[in-house]
Amino acid sequence: KARKRFGQNFLQDQGVIRRIIRAIAPGETQHLVEIGPGLGAITEELLDLCQRLDVVELDRDLVPILRTKFFSYAEKFAIHEGDALKFDFATLQQQDEQLRVVGNLPYNISTPLIFHLLSYADQIEDMHFMLQKEVVDRLAAKPGDSAYGRLGIMAQYYCQVEPLFLVPPHAFDPAPKVDSAIVRLIPYKELPHPAQDISKLETVVRTAFGQRRKTLRNNLKPLLDANEIEALGIDPGLRPERLALIDFIRISDYLSSK
Ligand code: SAM
Repeated sequence: KARKRFGQNFLQDQGVIRRIIRAIAPGETQHLVEIGPGLGAITEELLDLCQRLDVVELDRDLVPILRTKFFSYAEKFAIHEGDALKFDFATLQQQDEQLRVVGNLPYNISTPLIFHLLSYADQIEDMHFMLQKEVVDRLAAKPGDSAYGRLGIMAQYYCQVEPLFLVPPHAFDPAPKVDSAIVRLIPYKELPHPAQDISKLETVVRTAFGQRRKTLRNNLKPLLDANEIEALGIDPGLRPERLALIDFIRISDYLSSK
């Protein structure tokens, strides 16, 4: 029986499963990592097509089921029982190969999990996730969109974001209450606009969105004043959702060198 507290909605639609596998397109020399394999809806097809697959699953009751089911793949398959939010993905890297991360993520932890994975961006080739559609909208949002905020800005700092396709609730058992979508995140090999200090950029973005309806002048008061914002060529009377990534980086670099 699916467990709500683990965000379990198991994929049951073979057409959707095939479409996800086609989008991922695993290669026979590649190292994949699946987060939350559940009962293995996409796991077997991944295993058939890649060189190595590591899975991270929190629900300990699923582990023996997965172990039995995929017994014959033992030499290329490993199950890590634990919380993906605390998992050190760097330990999976075998030589200096890049990891390909996939998962039909538990929706209750998808945002913190994406932030966690972004900290491994330079070890990751790409990521394919099933998410609540609303979270995909936030990942891909541009300045001025109502979904634009911290998640999209930080994801777009590290990655190219490509929303792929929608998945309706009845593709799952049990059916979630919301629409879902598949998204592809491709970390840049070289960041287009590296910030001098990434933790400063995170602080600026978090502070700027402290209260969405307030202006930059008000939200950013603890970090810099309106004159300083203006001197950077940015209108302090704007709301944070109008500001492009490059402007947040400009503020952050100014603070780093102040
Ligand atoms: N991949 C399966 C599928 O598509 O049918 C299951 C997807 S289900 C939405 C999410 C899975 O993530 C469940 O198996 C759940 O137990 C697991 N999970 C929940 N929280 C987790 C966490 N913090 N770390 C790792 N796995 C987690």
